[in-house]
Amino acid sequence: MPAPSLATLRGFVFDLDGCVWSGDVLNPGANETLTALHRSGRALAFVSNNSRATGTDLRERARGAPLVTPNIDPRLPIEGGDFLPGCGSIVQAVAVAAGVRPIVVGKPEPPLFRMALERLGLAAGATAMVGDSIPSDIRGAQAVGMPTVLYAPGGAPAGAADVVVASFAELARLVGVG
Ligand SMILES: [Mg+2]
Repeated sequence: MPAPSLATLRGFVFDLDGCVWSGDVLNPGANETLTALHRSGRALAFVSNNSRATGTDLRERARGAPLVTPNIDPRLPIEGGDFLPGCGSIVQAVAVAAGVRPIVVGKPEPPLFRMALERLGLAAGATAMVGDSIPSDIRGAQAVGMPTVLYAPGGAPAGAADVVVASFAELARLVGVG
């Protein structure tokens, strides 16, 4: 997809950790770009694999229960380009010990993307997924037919997504709202 066609899209789905914010800090230009997209009438949704915000207490379930996880991401990006061990690093340890295969309900599996599109009331082809993770955000969105935008301030390999942006300001320019 050529970059200028972002201007024709009606909706944008954003990843949160490592994209809209890193740790507790908004990434530069995120607030301004999201505000401009909203004011332009674009539909916005947010999808996250963040497992820290949920209150599921798996201990009460431990024996015979399926191992359900929001994601198998190895790393959780935080401020300054650093990271914490992701949900996947813990889930894999449990899965290996229990001899079960985890059921992934978050990205890159299709249900979360389809829920976001349903909530927006838009077709996959009219809605871009914006995220910082190629395996989770980009490949997952491609699998359901969404155009993809990789947020990569540090650069990315060619062809990593339909569009690669180094900043939110660049995204706003490509959409025509900045
Ligand atoms: Mg992310």
